[in-house]
Amino acid sequence: MDKQPIILENRPIIGISACCMGCPVRYNGRSFDMLKFLGREKGDFTWVPVCPECEAGLGVVRPPVHIAGEHGAAVWQGEATVRSRGGQDVTQQVMEGARAAEDVLRRAGAQAFIYLDGSPTCGVYRTTLRDQKRGKPPGVFGAILQERGWFLIPALDLQSPLKWWDWRRRLLAFIWLQDVPLQSKDDLFTVWYRLKFMCQELDDTWARTLGRELAALGQKPDPEIYETFRRQVSDQLRKPSTPARLKGSLLKQYANFRKKTGQTVPEIQAADVRRNVTTIARELTLMERASAATGHMIGTAPVLYSGKLPKPSRQKAERLLGEAIPEASEAAD
Ligand code: SF4
Repeated sequence: MDKQPIILENRPIIGISACCMGCPVRYNGRSFDMLKFLGREKGDFTWVPVCPECEAGLGVVRPPVHIAGEHGAAVWQGEATVRSRGGQDVTQQVMEGARAAEDVLRRAGAQAFIYLDGSPTCGVYRTTLRDQKRGKPPGVFGAILQERGWFLIPALDLQSPLKWWDWRRRLLAFIWLQDVPLQSKDDLFTVWYRLKFMCQELDDTWARTLGRELAALGQKPDPEIYETFRRQVSDQLRKPSTPARLKGSLLKQYANFRKKTGQTVPEIQAADVRRNVTTIARELTLMERASAATGHMIGTAPVLYSGKLPKPSRQKAERLLGEAIPEASEAAD
């Protein structure tokens, strides 16, 4: 098996609720700048801001809307409506706006969407920003994005370096998985070899069951298995990890990295040092950089983006690792 990390060359394209990118499109003409939390990493992505309520023609400023009935999915089924604060029925406009916004995302080639939770339109797990008992999640736009399998990231998680690190590494794996050829049993094994550690971290029981099912496949698997596998692993990659599991992965993968390459990363602390979530995120990023620099894949982030990563040159790798890299024949196996 090839043990190099997979490095995506194309800049990932991410859709975002326009009001989270500083566009003053909320009903009250305000916005949030959530991308500021990413610092320089913001430039590693192409952003596609959309506002379904503006696409609906509701304008800024406008009366806030709410779902009258169950939730956004029920709106699409004709069993709930969208109403403005004054009681006006704006259901058709908001549905049109949601369709138009999704068209924009598809035309741009976006592979994920960062949403403002708490919006009756873009929200996925909440549809009210304050504690108003109006409509349950998801929102009208959130419902179609969920149903159509978009990779959905809550904007609030951009504030946490560790949560963002987790979303980003799963997103890169998700993007790679959508296009990787899956036509043979060997293809399945190759892809699973890349992603299984991350999947085990996310849901160990599920991942071990899948591993056993793959091992039991006959020589000529049913052709349906390939897309089922892609869909199941994609669903898994949408689920967040936890700080405890991420810390466990960091320690395990760093131990493995040291054993396989014979190298250390000076800034990564000893296993018994107490770490806060910011430090865990920083050390995971250092692990990614060491992986790119040495060409040694780490299972906790097997797919990387070339944007700001050091290319695997000896000089850059030695600078990161703080010491000379031995020739391949000298490195521990
Ligand atoms: S519809 Fe979405 S993008 Fe537009 S203001 Fe509401 S949450 Fe923001």
